[in-house]
Amino acid sequence: MSNHNSGRRTFIKTTGSGIAAGIALTTLPSWVIAAAAGNSFTQQPLPYDYKALEPVIDAMTMEIHYSKHAAAYAKNLADACLAEKVDTNSAKLEEVLRNISKYSAKMRNNGGGHYNHELFWQCMKPGSATKPEGKLASAIDQGFGSFDAFKTQFTDAGKNRFGSGWAWLVLNADRKLVIGSTANQDNPLMDISEIKGTPLLGLDVWEHAYYLKYQNKRPDYINNWWNVVNWEFVQKRFESA
Ligand code: MN
Repeated sequence: MSNHNSGRRTFIKTTGSGIAAGIALTTLPSWVIAAAAGNSFTQQPLPYDYKALEPVIDAMTMEIHYSKHAAAYAKNLADACLAEKVDTNSAKLEEVLRNISKYSAKMRNNGGGHYNHELFWQCMKPGSATKPEGKLASAIDQGFGSFDAFKTQFTDAGKNRFGSGWAWLVLNADRKLVIGSTANQDNPLMDISEIKGTPLLGLDVWEHAYYLKYQNKRPDYINNWWNVVNWEFVQKRFESA
């Protein structure tokens, strides 16, 4: 009996520390295995419920966005990787994006689409609006004059993106914060991008991101979106970039 108990305790301790030892990985859904392995090519679980960002982003928009649009980018990226012989177990998605001019349009659209959405989910969190703190707050003040001035400039980048695309806060090669936007699913990691650097914060301004709730009022979507930005996450990206 005491042997049984200590065995059970060991098992719990092991599973708590990472990948569930003792459970056959092949019986788990593929995204769980990929998440355990840290595979950047596959869709990770959404870090909150579909309804968690209401009223800013409604549950139906989140569900369709994550389980249809973003899931399709991940699936089509997997197809492109097979066709173009990218080994997703050893390659890094960021490296593929940095050299995207050497790959197909399918890789560009879906590699970008997948990367951008994985980042986008993490750039948001439920709860009330916060502000950047620490080194990021100082860098924003230095780069844009104030947090409000930064917000205005970023909002304009999203509002003025014609058609589909993204607005970005980027740390460039000179370690300066810059704001810009990209068309379609391009992003600042890509060698073909006009704005280049490490994306710290991204905003999806495709109609699929807001149309059910906001229809043609993209500026209202952006203004409300500031209330769900996960500044802790953006700060961590800034400090580790
Ligand atoms: Mn999207």
